[in-house]
Amino acid sequence: MIPIKLHNTLTNQLETLSPVHPGEVRIYTCGPTVYAYAHIGNFRTFVFQDILRRFLRSQGLRLLHVMNVTDVDDRIIVNAAGAGISIREYTEKYIQAFLDDMAAINLEQPEILARATEHIDDMVALIEKLQNKGFTYKSDGSIYYRIAKFPKYGKLSRIDVSGMQSGARVDVDRYEKDDARDFALWKAPKAGEHFWETRIGPGRPGWHIECSAMAMEYLGETLDIHAGGVDLSFPHHENEIAQSEGATGHLFSKIWLHGEHLLVEGQKMSKSLGNFYTLRDLFAKGEKPSTLRFLLLSVPYRRQLNFTEDGLRQAQSSVERLRTFITRLKTTNFPEGSYEPMMARIKRAETDFDAALADDLNTAVALAAVFDLVRDANSAMDRGTFQQQNATRAIAAMEKFDAVLAVLTVDDDEKLQKMGFTQGDTRMPAEQVEALIEERKAAKSARDFQRADAIRKQLSDSGIILEDAKDGTVRWKYK
Ligand code: AMP
Ligand code: ZN
Repeated sequence: MIPIKLHNTLTNQLETLSPVHPGEVRIYTCGPTVYAYAHIGNFRTFVFQDILRRFLRSQGLRLLHVMNVTDVDDRIIVNAAGAGISIREYTEKYIQAFLDDMAAINLEQPEILARATEHIDDMVALIEKLQNKGFTYKSDGSIYYRIAKFPKYGKLSRIDVSGMQSGARVDVDRYEKDDARDFALWKAPKAGEHFWETRIGPGRPGWHIECSAMAMEYLGETLDIHAGGVDLSFPHHENEIAQSEGATGHLFSKIWLHGEHLLVEGQKMSKSLGNFYTLRDLFAKGEKPSTLRFLLLSVPYRRQLNFTEDGLRQAQSSVERLRTFITRLKTTNFPEGSYEPMMARIKRAETDFDAALADDLNTAVALAAVFDLVRDANSAMDRGTFQQQNATRAIAAMEKFDAVLAVLTVDDDEKLQKMGFTQGDTRMPAEQVEALIEERKAAKSARDFQRADAIRKQLSDSGIILEDAKDGTVRWKYK
């Protein structure tokens, strides 16, 4: 196995992954807060985590990955109370939508999906542990974490807390870096809001305690990897460290990964700014699931990704290029035999692909390795040097790449229909149709009728009708 290097926010260095339990990587990722549909900024983070999962597994590692679903927080409580329904009823719809969205863009389900409301006991037990060790104090029925008690506070986000006034408190779950203060572990009930009756009193958990409790419940006191978007490093992850390490005295997570944001016109895509798209918004406009997955994975996770129409079109044609290539491999009648230089070329692409992902999940370089192979193999086919065993080998390599990329299976229309999107324009772009028609012409003049027929079928399956005129010109239209 090649060494896998990841950028650890905690040390600000590339570090080689070395799991606590050899052969098994234990990962915790902060999941969605289910008070609305997740937007594609959220999904950028979840896609990067999916690439991490799939790559680790492709390297022979087992995974134990927990993702939480925050189904109780400030916004959920307010919205559910406003709608006059229970938290469960309110969040159920968004949890299901999240699972459907995940499936649409081929995100694997983590081994454990943990709902906050089903782990209140674990949170209470962890708060009790912190109480026993003197990390907490009570005020107006709420329980706060005293950050002055944890000298390492700030080690992840590198904030300076030296001038901080001890005892200053913050009640909301999300706050700015320059507002570092004691935070609520347990919040006193408010009139009309849902609360739990527990050993530490009535109330509800803060957001941060949820992740510490569920992570350690399933993964032990020290995780291999904890991941989320950059906005979570402070205060959320800083507070998770304070809670977990305060309670256990051990390192909470060996590696912390933070994905950069998806931007729209230079600003973070976020619900509060109102500049967001959900996957559903884009499906309704005719975008395909594979286009969105490709776009989100194409930029390495530590670089910001600017969401543009141009980017969408490029992602779509990249996916088409890969799919056309694999169809060509599967349907062309190549001469029997194995052209050795091509075997070495394919092997090099595989090595480069793995090396790129092992270098802090550099998806851009990994994709370049794939597209360079596609280009070289296509030109070998055009020159006539590509042989049948090369095709078999290249198909295997493409399948290996796709175990991580997950964009090759032609199932966009099917998925969209299942989700109720039948209106959108999911047609093959005109340039793609024309490129295939050209290829079909070339196949015909090379008397490769099997290939020519396969292209006709591919076009027909994509809803394109060909009309061959007597003079050899080809006209086409959408069905
Ligand atoms: P939330 O539901 O707000 O807790 O967010 C779920 C995940 O999406 C977290 O890991 C966030 O860091 C991440 N996230 C939120 N906005 C963006 C964005 N614009 N780009 C990338 N990730 C984001
Ligand atoms: Zn979390």
